Amino acid sequence: MQGSKFIQRFNQYCPEWLAEEGDPVGLHIGTLNKEVDRIMMGLDVRPAVVEEAIEKKIDLLIVKHPPIFRPLSRLTTDDVQTKMYADLIKNDIAVYAAHTNMDIIHNGLNDWFCEMLEVVDTSYLIHTHTVKMKKLAVYVPQTDAKKMREALAKAGAGEQGNYQATSFTVNGTGRFTPNEEANPTIGSSNVPEQVQESKIEVIFPETKQTDIVAAMLAAHPYEEPAYDIYHLDNLAENFGIGRVGELKEAMSTEDFIAKVKEVFVLEGLRVVYPHDSKKSIKRVAICGGSGEKFYRDALAANADVYITGDVYYHTAHDMQETGMLVIDPGHYIESLCKEKMVALFEQWKNEEGWKVDFFVSETSTNPFSFK
Ligand SMILES: [Zn+2]
Repeated sequence: MQGSKFIQRFNQYCPEWLAEEGDPVGLHIGTLNKEVDRIMMGLDVRPAVVEEAIEKKIDLLIVKHPPIFRPLSRLTTDDVQTKMYADLIKNDIAVYAAHTNMDIIHNGLNDWFCEMLEVVDTSYLIHTHTVKMKKLAVYVPQTDAKKMREALAKAGAGEQGNYQATSFTVNGTGRFTPNEEANPTIGSSNVPEQVQESKIEVIFPETKQTDIVAAMLAAHPYEEPAYDIYHLDNLAENFGIGRVGELKEAMSTEDFIAKVKEVFVLEGLRVVYPHDSKKSIKRVAICGGSGEKFYRDALAANADVYITGDVYYHTAHDMQETGMLVIDPGHYIESLCKEKMVALFEQWKNEEGWKVDFFVSETSTNPFSFK
């Protein structure tokens, strides 16, 4: 299978445009224009991960953390930090990163955290993207209308709530006169023609426009297909980073801390107890990775607890005055994405009939331990 084909499917689930501004998601090393037989999912690119990838003969490494987060000034092989990039290139291992887009997507990392903690009725913590709807009207000979509707539905047009492949068709007469340069499917040069045509209308989220127009053009029999695209004020979907939701039953602070520790299989975690301590936990906000900058959003969402990694000393002081409990389970809880993503890859493989092997990186890249 071509690497680009796999990433195309990956992008349908986790599109690059959902990443935060300036987040360097996408292909970092190598090319996607090559055959890939072995794909591995990891959290970080570290020298030990590169060694594992070489040993497993990996063609494409997918990671959560972009390996070249800041621009490189040198690419020497005497430095272990940069040697790993050279090793990847030498072994023809492509590296692709999906970072904040994996935190934002529906059914993504933050949703998996909520599932594990049995947090329900969730919504996003901070709004990031709103997708608007558009409408396509395309005119085709009536004999091609069915084929066109099917092609549009396959490209994702006409999804409306729990309904798929919605469309509206009206029949009429199309008129045109081909000139001498034309190569018409129906009719001939300089002869006015009229054809019984169908006008098919479908709605779609604006993010799918390129795919849908390409599918329409591919399915259209005419040299110069006639179509219109309308802006609509209907909103398709809102997206956001982090999640906030409810526990079914309120829990004591200590029981909840024990639950977080158990669910994420942690040797230890850091807790910022507020001076004005709440007695129980019902409403939970979470943002995997380093989400301390969103703690005020968790407060505004009336969370009793905010779970996020990499909390900074002075920010912890500020948090302590808010009355909200903060739990820092570490950044490494994100390694959950390795197994979860590979389970999804296997599902796509079944659906698409791919011939490819997937691997979960077995290297721990957690730099911290507890003694
Ligand atoms: Zn992260």
